[in-house]
Amino acid sequence: MSIITIDHLSKTYANGVTALNDVSLSIKEGDFFALLGPNGAGKSTLINVLSSLVNKSSGQVHIAGFNLDSQLLQAKRQLGLMPQEVNLAVFEKVLDILIYQGGYYGIPRQEAKKRALELLDHLSLSDKANQITRHLSGGMKRRVMIARALMSKPKVLILDEPTAGVDIAIRRHMWGFLRELNRNGTTIILTTHYLEEAEKLCNEVGIIDKGQLICQRDMPSLLRELKCETFLAYLSKPISSLPHVPNIPMRRIDAYTLDIDVPRDLGIGKSIQLLEQAGVPIQSLRNKTNRLESLFLSLTKNTE
Ligand code: ADP
Repeated sequence: MSIITIDHLSKTYANGVTALNDVSLSIKEGDFFALLGPNGAGKSTLINVLSSLVNKSSGQVHIAGFNLDSQLLQAKRQLGLMPQEVNLAVFEKVLDILIYQGGYYGIPRQEAKKRALELLDHLSLSDKANQITRHLSGGMKRRVMIARALMSKPKVLILDEPTAGVDIAIRRHMWGFLRELNRNGTTIILTTHYLEEAEKLCNEVGIIDKGQLICQRDMPSLLRELKCETFLAYLSKPISSLPHVPNIPMRRIDAYTLDIDVPRDLGIGKSIQLLEQAGVPIQSLRNKTNRLESLFLSLTKNTE
């Protein structure tokens, strides 16, 4: 069942910039959906229209069956938004921010406090509950914003670049939390520049470029479209020059490391065999995580 339906959505700002041009998109309940696209593609505009922070110029949006125009309040209640910019009241305590947020949704104070403490616990922020937000690190502020978005138990959580500027350990912790949330039934929509993030978390992808949706696909089938995958090969012995192996382009990084493009139709097993026959002593391989990026580049090139 589709939880978000967008039909022929367009947005032209007052300055004449058309940020969205006839976008139609459907997001299924339970999806972990990645919205990808270069800077200025229209991702934030799309998210802001869904969250009713920006008025659309035309088109229809339904959220959990509620029409954004005629059933605005019900539609809004289904969503939690974590915006891109940190927008926490700097002198408020973390716990108070969450309790106030519960108040906006009519949650009684005691219940809101209980929920807030649970969320802080899940996000490893229990020890920050009584700190004012100004004293938190960037990664902590982002986690507080996730907790705030979840206070109303939304069916859909929208995250605009949730891990921008967040160090790798915190990012992984946030990924674990979001995965669990999704497993428990929350639909999540995410914009990200970290393609690795989309690949790791999301089952469905929409790619947006210059205000248009250029592709919506499930992640595995999108990845299958790649003609080759690039691997980093670590060698057991150094090699001084690269042998020529037909159909397997490679580049030398240093005497013990190569970048190898493995064609999909050849497959990794056969490729390793051919490389070893050609005198490349492979000890181990690591998949380079640039697959989505190359796919994205090839898709956007086609639309130019
Ligand atoms: P993304 O999130 O993909 O980077 P945005 O939705 O922020 O893209 O922006 C899409 C286009 O709309 C850009 O050209 C941007 O400059 C323009 N834009 C965004 N917000 C506004 C605004 N409030 N007023 C005018 N133009 C805007």
